[in-house]
Amino acid sequence: MELIFKKSVPGRRCTRFPKSDVPKARVLAQKYLRKSACALPEVSELDLIRHFTNLSRLNFSVDTNFYPLGSCTMKYNPKFSEDIARLEGFANLHPLLPQLRGGGLLTQGALEVLWNMEKLLCEITGMDNFTLQPAAGAHGELTGVTLIAAYHRAKKNKRKYILVPDSAHGTNPASAAIAGYEIINVPSDQNGTMDLRALKEKLNEDVAAVMMTCPNTLGLFETNIDAITELAHKKGALMYYDGANLNAILGKCRPGDIGFDVIHLNLHKTFATPHGGGGPGAGPVGVKKELEEFLPISRVVKRDDGTLYLNYKPTHTIGYIASFYGNFLVILKAYAYILLLGREGLIRTGEHAVLNANYILAKLKDIYAPAIDKYCMHECVLSASKQAEQGIRAFDIAKYLIDCGIHPPTIYFPLIIKEALMVEPTETESKETLDYFIACMREADSLAKENPEALKKAPQTTPIGRLDETKAARDMNCALL
Ligand SMILES: *Cc1c(COP(=O)(O)O)cnc(C)c1O
Repeated sequence: MELIFKKSVPGRRCTRFPKSDVPKARVLAQKYLRKSACALPEVSELDLIRHFTNLSRLNFSVDTNFYPLGSCTMKYNPKFSEDIARLEGFANLHPLLPQLRGGGLLTQGALEVLWNMEKLLCEITGMDNFTLQPAAGAHGELTGVTLIAAYHRAKKNKRKYILVPDSAHGTNPASAAIAGYEIINVPSDQNGTMDLRALKEKLNEDVAAVMMTCPNTLGLFETNIDAITELAHKKGALMYYDGANLNAILGKCRPGDIGFDVIHLNLHKTFATPHGGGGPGAGPVGVKKELEEFLPISRVVKRDDGTLYLNYKPTHTIGYIASFYGNFLVILKAYAYILLLGREGLIRTGEHAVLNANYILAKLKDIYAPAIDKYCMHECVLSASKQAEQGIRAFDIAKYLIDCGIHPPTIYFPLIIKEALMVEPTETESKETLDYFIACMREADSLAKENPEALKKAPQTTPIGRLDETKAARDMNCALL
């Protein structure tokens, strides 16, 4: 068999088209052909497999180890959802398939997933309508705050402030600022929840919304939530619920019933679609009736004959925030997960997420001071302040956990707690894993007293030990591996 590129790559078979099969016009002119072979590495399949398998072993993932990263819900994503997302009819769907006629039949299933998912999320959160378009939690916040701005604009309200408690997730004030608002900080009281007196002082007719992370970053549910929503609504402000960590209240209560007007969810936290490495994610936004007309395009609409289509022309929409169907396969995985768990399963998810966090809190609070000494929700915040007296910081403990095969918890956050260690075990971990984590944390405390140098040297089991973090951030060199 004569190969067309034979001359350009002596001894190497880049392509296997017999010359006779290639139309004349496609044969490259001699002058364009390479004079030397491509300088590509030449390795056997086995070498290649070993290379990538070894690289993948350097990865830290929920599939290999415990990952108690607070405020991030790194729970196990059932492989079942991956199988569903791999189904050819979904995975190969082209976003430009026509919706009407012919192609309409091809997209109906996908549109039905979106339609049903909106209804499920409304039922779970108590909202009246949902958009599935935002691609992440913070993107959902930006969308939600933009909806709030559109609502006030339509009412000719000139409101320029958003109130954000100091225990909110860091993205909340950032999103509100990007949407054009000025942020007013509301302090927490000694119980770790919003200081009602401060809220009353700061609420007035210039406030567009109160944006709350609930449970807050101390892992606490706002016990005064009824009073807060009532105060805000009296002043004409809307209530925003950061529901990224809905795990904590899943199946137990609905933000819509408590008086919240806008909510975002993180499907990549609560609804078990993969999370990490910056995506992919999905941050659907739910709203009450008064805000429905502003939802971003496209909207899934049902015709009288029961068929579905995407409407790109609602009159008062805030416009595009994403293209086509949003992050469709992420939404699909979450949809499959919700249907798999069902009513009972979702309730149990919430219950076990909270139980596991409280188990860790109860077993560690004698040595790591809890941020607030009461029951927590889906995560607990401990402090290494006692260990700091011996010169051991939250940072050293986090590094030591790596040597135990455990991903470090979130540290130094929330900012209002000294030497914070924020632990979110999630509902998918067994009691054995939680006990192992507790044992490692107690061990770290003993080392702090007996052999602090061992903690200072951690991690010792990783390809690279302790970095100069500032240098690493400013002068990143990943090639060291
Ligand atoms: C993770 C998280 C966010 C941001 O979500 P991203 O998808 O990372 O943008 C917002 N709020 C809370 C409470 C979170 O935990």
